[in-house]
Amino acid sequence: MLEVIHHFPEIDFDRPGKHHYQVAFHCDGTWGYSLVPLTVINGLRGPNPNGVLCFGGTHGNEYEGQVGVKRLCADLDPAVMTGRVILVPQLSASACIANSRISPLDGVNMNRAFPGNPRGTISYRIANFVKTALFPRARIVMDLHSGGMEGAFPHCTSFHPIPDRAQCAETAQLARLFDPPFSFIYSSAMASGLLTDEAELEGKITIGGELGAGASVDRMGVKFAYEGVLNALRHYGLLEGEVRKVRPESEGPTRLIEATRMEAYVPAPRDGVWEPVTAPGEAVRQGQLLGRLHDFSDHTSAPVEIVSPRDGWIAMMHLSARPAKGQTLFVVAEERDWSEVLG
Ligand SMILES: [Zn+2]
Repeated sequence: MLEVIHHFPEIDFDRPGKHHYQVAFHCDGTWGYSLVPLTVINGLRGPNPNGVLCFGGTHGNEYEGQVGVKRLCADLDPAVMTGRVILVPQLSASACIANSRISPLDGVNMNRAFPGNPRGTISYRIANFVKTALFPRARIVMDLHSGGMEGAFPHCTSFHPIPDRAQCAETAQLARLFDPPFSFIYSSAMASGLLTDEAELEGKITIGGELGAGASVDRMGVKFAYEGVLNALRHYGLLEGEVRKVRPESEGPTRLIEATRMEAYVPAPRDGVWEPVTAPGEAVRQGQLLGRLHDFSDHTSAPVEIVSPRDGWIAMMHLSARPAKGQTLFVVAEERDWSEVLG
């Protein structure tokens, strides 16, 4: 049964078993609501200090997290679980309905709206709900994204550089539980107001992930979302059993890459039509051709050749054919050793 909640305090987060809700956030300019799906599971096998909170659909046109988390809402069985899991498959429900990165209701990017504002527009009020009603009930926070229409990434989990060594080590461990080909340490300076920024500030163990691109549903991306969260639940003892390999056994361990300096996020030097000749997840050498920017105002003109500024791994590449001057064209990340972050 889908219970509609009009006032957050009505949600009984301690109620044993599994309960599905729609949390109603009133629209700013019309009568009506955006109904945000929420499932709360309290395992029947006793408490667990590591509450888990997992989001999909923070950006509406990124589907692997939405599908993976929705399937977990159906499949997780409180009878065999300890502790509490809170699942939100479409956090920016209005953006998800619109197949859009941002909410069409207020034009706000949910992943820049934190810590939120109880008197703000709808996205800020949803962020405030996450901050005040959900964060206090979880220690582990996962926000599953993909590149949307912006960029293509290799399948990866992601986190910021974290000064606190214990928090950093546990975060890195959580990122590795998803068994993606890459875990990506990315710059905190490129954006602020992220859901994971806020969770990190509160001292939580929090990761993001980039699990596909192009507003499609990537088969492996969904698998990383679904199996990765299950592995996190096993690791923290909410589910019984050992952490499982998600990729084929023949594939090697997750590679840790880092791009924390702003210089690694290279802007397009001009408008153009982007012809990549390398792909996300590929190893590249300094000076290697990454792609060409074409100017069709003169079809005989030579393209601008874009080369790699360093040795490393392509952590992100512009997805659409038409980057505008200044948009991030690519990121070449450097490899790190897990021992540097696991401590
Ligand atoms: Zn996103």
